Amino acid sequence: MASLSLKHIFKVYDGNVKAVNDFCMDIEDNEFIVFVGPSGCGKSTTLRMIAGLEEITAGELRIDNEIVNDFEPKDRNIAMVFQNYALYPHMSVYENMAFSLRTAHMPNDQIHEKVMEAANILGITEYLERKPKALSGGQRQRVALGRAIVRQPKVFLLDEPLSNLDAKLRAAMRSEISRLHERLGTTFIYVTHDQVEAMTMGSRIVVMRDGFVQQIDTPINLYKYPDNVFVAGFIGTPQMNFFDGVVSKKGDDVCFALDCGTNIDMKYVQADKIPVKYMDGEHRIVFGIRPDDIRIHNDKNYDDGSWAPAKAVVSVVEVLGGETLIYANLNLDTPDAEEGAIIIKADPDSFVRRGDVIDIEISRRKFHVFDKETERSIRRRIPEENIIVADIVGNKLSFEGQSFSIPSAVKCSNATAAEISMPISGLTLGSGNGEAKVQWIESIDGKTLYFLKVGELTLFSLENGEARFKVGDSVAFDIDFTKVAIESLGIKPLCLTNTLDGVFTKEKDKSRKFYHFYMNIGEDKLIPTDSICEKVFACKGNKIFHTPLEYIFEAKDATVGPHTDGARGVITGKVIEMLDYGHTRYAVIDVHGQKLTAAYNGNAGDEVDVSVPSNAITIKDKSIDIIIV
Ligand code: ADP
Repeated sequence: MASLSLKHIFKVYDGNVKAVNDFCMDIEDNEFIVFVGPSGCGKSTTLRMIAGLEEITAGELRIDNEIVNDFEPKDRNIAMVFQNYALYPHMSVYENMAFSLRTAHMPNDQIHEKVMEAANILGITEYLERKPKALSGGQRQRVALGRAIVRQPKVFLLDEPLSNLDAKLRAAMRSEISRLHERLGTTFIYVTHDQVEAMTMGSRIVVMRDGFVQQIDTPINLYKYPDNVFVAGFIGTPQMNFFDGVVSKKGDDVCFALDCGTNIDMKYVQADKIPVKYMDGEHRIVFGIRPDDIRIHNDKNYDDGSWAPAKAVVSVVEVLGGETLIYANLNLDTPDAEEGAIIIKADPDSFVRRGDVIDIEISRRKFHVFDKETERSIRRRIPEENIIVADIVGNKLSFEGQSFSIPSAVKCSNATAAEISMPISGLTLGSGNGEAKVQWIESIDGKTLYFLKVGELTLFSLENGEARFKVGDSVAFDIDFTKVAIESLGIKPLCLTNTLDGVFTKEKDKSRKFYHFYMNIGEDKLIPTDSICEKVFACKGNKIFHTPLEYIFEAKDATVGPHTDGARGVITGKVIEMLDYGHTRYAVIDVHGQKLTAAYNGNAGDEVDVSVPSNAITIKDKSIDIIIV
């Protein structure tokens, strides 16, 4: 039983092959985690780093809160099961399972007890005297599991353990491994390229591609709320249908015009999580709909307005017994073309033939929309932005009968119909000049998402914890102007993440017996903790002294005070500008030719010291673009 924490884990193989990039994840005790993705995406490398079979280039791996980067595999209390079983051919099943316990000098009677217990769990007591070559693939894999079980590891790592088995046996072993996980109550991490295996076994799944984590979530959330086109296409069989097109909004009506000629229309409330800026009829989007979320029209179908009509021409019908897959095309002139191709999962008694033109219905609830260029979802479960079209006169911003004072830090000229955007965290509830009506509430992973009606607009706000307001309530709201962007007026959100160039240095102590280490920014020296020193040396060795670095920290972690001569471990600088945001004043501080921003109640021209706890600083190796601490 163990928890694991992977923080900014990178693996760079010789020749600068970046196999794993910035892998971050906390795994709780007793979870069943699956790493899934196409071949070469970095799944095995990540697993092997956890096992200790592969060195971690940068990042921190903890098992039960202990940093284990430098632990030998045998000291990590982890057992790994491989695809090729890795059994000793000359030993019996019993001896294969007993082997690791014998090398650990366990007394014979205890070994016997453990081997018999594992053999019982796995149903292989009959084969204990056989050699591996006299076993089937499934039996060998059970022995490999048994060899792992006897060691009672804290974590089980399984690397494509079923890929050598035929389909039927694979399905049986899948449920056997899930039961084993329940029975052992241990943390499992399982690697596979098979999304069905991932979906059926994982309590959470990590989808990887080209060395990058694409999404980490429960199987159902990956299916319902894929973050990007890749995850949407990878999870689910048959694959999600994708169509290029544009979307536009006229009053309360929204229409997706797909390139294949089909229009899918709906009411704005059905699409209101999509940022309005995409609804201009120009932004290229990808409309996604799963085969399960399309049905064939039937007069008896119940419809509360959740289904959009369309037509398709059938090219292939696959009758699978329990269901029928219909391969069709939305473009009625080109049944076999790629553009417009659509797969529909229909009832087994649907009676359609090649060449038929059928009336279909596309769910207005369960569709997906992605930005064509970034391939990221723009109909996210938690919307990212609020977009408001507002008028600005003097220091007043107004829209939909609401009016807000613009703080002096936001220097904008008068404008009509300026597009204001802000992350949804920029709209706060409970106080402020604005008034909204709560239209809808969703509870998502311990957070509350409010849909707020403000005049004609739907805006969003997200809070931690349970809902404080009910549907129908009138609530006051405010705008956090540090987060506001007005592109047409050149207004950017205040950047509260500071990034400063620097280096890592050493100086001999006066006694000349040992070194002091420093994180240098210009002439200033911050003092690293022992743990920071350990990490930079583990990662870079003595090369650290010749590596250009970036020191990155949040403004909230910086404290600004008056300059004191001789103060140690602080960044010295001069305030070049004060930014007044009403609730907080920020200083832009020149530090040896670079700029940093932090909260401060003083004046431009002040000489100041900025202190930042060194453990709040992230260190990036600029030469290879990797976070090392
Ligand atoms: P997966 O398990 O997802 O198939 P791997 O973790 O095995 O992927 O590999 C990830 C990437 O790292 C691939 O591009 C692979 O070619 C590369 N790679 C794996 N092992 C090595 C190695 N020892 N040396 C160099 N490159 C490697």
